[in-house]
Amino acid sequence: MKKINPPSSEMKVLVHHAEIGLKGGHFSFFERRLVENIKKSSFRAKIKLGGIQRKEKRIFCDFESKNPEEVTSLLKKVFGIKYFSFVKEINLNQDELEDYVKGILKQLKKEKIKKIAFKTKRANKKFPKTSVEINSNLGSIANSLGIKVDYKNSEKKIFIEITDKIYVYTERFEGLGGLPVGTSGKVLCLLSGGIDSIVAAWLMMKRGCEIDFLHFHTYKENKDVLGGKIIKLVEILNDFQYSSKVYFIPYYIYFFESQGRIDERYDVVMFKNYMLKLGERIALEKNSEQVHKRLRGLVTGDNLAQVASQTLENINASSFKINLPIFRPLLTYDKQEIINLSEKIGTYLLSLKEYKDCCSLLGKRVSVKTEIDTFEKELKKLDMEEIINKSLKEIFEINL
Ligand code: ATP
Ligand code: MG
Repeated sequence: MKKINPPSSEMKVLVHHAEIGLKGGHFSFFERRLVENIKKSSFRAKIKLGGIQRKEKRIFCDFESKNPEEVTSLLKKVFGIKYFSFVKEINLNQDELEDYVKGILKQLKKEKIKKIAFKTKRANKKFPKTSVEINSNLGSIANSLGIKVDYKNSEKKIFIEITDKIYVYTERFEGLGGLPVGTSGKVLCLLSGGIDSIVAAWLMMKRGCEIDFLHFHTYKENKDVLGGKIIKLVEILNDFQYSSKVYFIPYYIYFFESQGRIDERYDVVMFKNYMLKLGERIALEKNSEQVHKRLRGLVTGDNLAQVASQTLENINASSFKINLPIFRPLLTYDKQEIINLSEKIGTYLLSLKEYKDCCSLLGKRVSVKTEIDTFEKELKKLDMEEIINKSLKEIFEINL
């Protein structure tokens, strides 16, 4: 990896928001949440944040760290950041700016850079020179040092942003984009140990959701899940949302009540309907007094036609009589795209680890086209309400 050289030992970082710039009247709400999330991320990464300031639709962070790589990897995990840069702060003074940029240009000349560009943004319109004038003055200095200004084919860019101070930088780091976690409300993700559902949860976080998780396990006792794969997967996502609630339910309750009653062809679809209904009951029963903490939807890692249970007909049947919205952010992704994301998130290798999932215990001869009327007939063979009530008595909940 290329070594990062911040322009000043102060570790001052300028953060530019992603889409929240478009949120009009709600801007402040989004920006405050982004600030809060940067603070939580620093705390989690054990990097001291000396100060954080919002001004002119930008966020300025002062990290007390000697390691720019650790600051970079922290900010690359915060949703809502478009890009960020290590900056040099100088006073609102043209001479000081020119002196400082001259120093950068001399260094670039040593590095044999021949073509540069200046990108100036003047948010503070009280600064006496316009962006064009600033670029032109700095361009003359560059020329005097034998460096050309070439906006189309520059080898290096020098960025200048003017607020109540002047900020100069030469390198931008891309953020994750999306919206700050916590700005869109809460949803409940049905989490298996596989590749897909954890990625689906992450994508919902990207749009500002906070996620609670629900997992059906095949252990004898709830406590056996502790220290296992599911906990580890959720802990990886905690880098992005800082804390999580996970509900566990033993699979054997459904298994004993349904065993031998359901036509093998509809087993998987029936089980998925049970999981979704249970998720919906949790959402309703845990309906918090605090409106912003209510669970407003279910999330699955379903992917259209990836496996037999995920045909349009089967997705339809498994969603039978679920009123809460069901979000399937991976529906249209190719498997490779999902794998690429899970590698980026850091869950891929863990997802691959062997795990006894409930679905592997269900019927293998799955019907790929379960029509609703067939499904309804099959559903009558079970007392689903009773199975759900029994299951809820065995629920185990932990906060990570
Ligand atoms: P995944 O990679 O997420 O396991 P999958 O491709 O294996 O998905 P299925 O096994 O059909 O597909 O599961 C589809 C979805 O159902 C999962 O993405 C997840 O949301 C949910 N699901 C499956 N098994 C469980 C489980 N044991 N507990 C909770 N949810 C589950
Ligand atoms: Mg699976």
